[in-house]
Amino acid sequence: ALTIGIAGLPNVGKSTLFNALTRAQVLAANYPFATIEPNVGVVPLPDPRLDVLAGIFGSERILPATVSFVDIAGIVRGASEGEGLGNKFLANIREADAICQVTRAFADPDVVHVDGKVSPKDDIETINTELILADLQTLEKTVPRLEKEVKIKKGDAALLEAAKGAQALLESGQTLFAGAAAAKLDLAQLSALQLMTAKPFIYVFNTDDAGLADEAFQAELRELVAPADAIFLDAKFESELVELEPDEAKEMLAENGQEQAGLDQLANVGFHTLGLQTYLTAGPKESRAWTIRRGWTAPQAAGVIHTDFERGFIKAEVIGFEDLVEAGSVAAARAAGKARIEGKDYVMQDGDVVEFRFNV
Ligand code: GDP
Repeated sequence: ALTIGIAGLPNVGKSTLFNALTRAQVLAANYPFATIEPNVGVVPLPDPRLDVLAGIFGSERILPATVSFVDIAGIVRGASEGEGLGNKFLANIREADAICQVTRAFADPDVVHVDGKVSPKDDIETINTELILADLQTLEKTVPRLEKEVKIKKGDAALLEAAKGAQALLESGQTLFAGAAAAKLDLAQLSALQLMTAKPFIYVFNTDDAGLADEAFQAELRELVAPADAIFLDAKFESELVELEPDEAKEMLAENGQEQAGLDQLANVGFHTLGLQTYLTAGPKESRAWTIRRGWTAPQAAGVIHTDFERGFIKAEVIGFEDLVEAGSVAAARAAGKARIEGKDYVMQDGDVVEFRFNV
């Protein structure tokens, strides 16, 4: 499965957030594929549509999609030079498919800040500098090698150009993810080089009540990290929230003036940042969300349920979630002409409720 690495300076609340994520995982532990690993938190992707489907179909259980987070310990200033747990840290980051940077934005005089002051902007710069330096080290080795290969006509000239473009961008102090679009750099082309700052980024600002209520403060930080998504949450509050029953948690959120728990926002943003989407199946046994990549066709989507479904794919009966809810049942949706028969070239859409027909 694709994973999101949680990174950040010491004492910013990573462990608090990660513990909350693993607590959320325990609650979802009846999930058939959930394996418990110490540094991985597999959390459910909240999807209220599944409750609605379970009502329509009388499903015995609900199985949401999941999002996996990996705890990446050990970034400190100098990590790119092997400081602290530098090398291990860099290896862990290389393995993650997206990077979630946790940044301290709470003022608590009892919690020491490694650099002596609370400044999300400076913290982001510290971490990005380490990642940029590590990528530059990679390119310092790669570019001369590619140049040699291109000279003897064995190399990939386009890759060399892209690598040089990446080098220039990094030297200007930008991460590849933030600067690629403006520099017209194709990150997909660079994927073989495993550069860390080319991964999608998400920023979590661990803040307090004051920060959660301060829209100007949030707007400023959102702008700073764009095009990455920013999430504002209170890690301590989130860790208390996951201990509560769902109804109590809802009440607590409402009292706090929040619509959705920070962890749920993080699961949602993380899932979409990884380029994933879901489709839905429903029946008396279960209502379920299945994870696919954006742009997948119906046979590829069927293959997530079982490889035989992809091989033997004949067609898919698809009803849009809204249409199904409006009609009230599959039979009524069919009668209303809302059930579509789709073939092997159909590209799956978010909210498709699907039944596959296949040969075995
Ligand atoms: P890590 O080093 O980044 O893993 O940080 P920890 O999760 O261990 O948190 C460092 C300290 O900050 C601990 O004493 C936490 O209790 C405290 N802390 C974490 N999140 C918050 C928060 O949202 N508000 C406050 N006031 N303290 C927090």
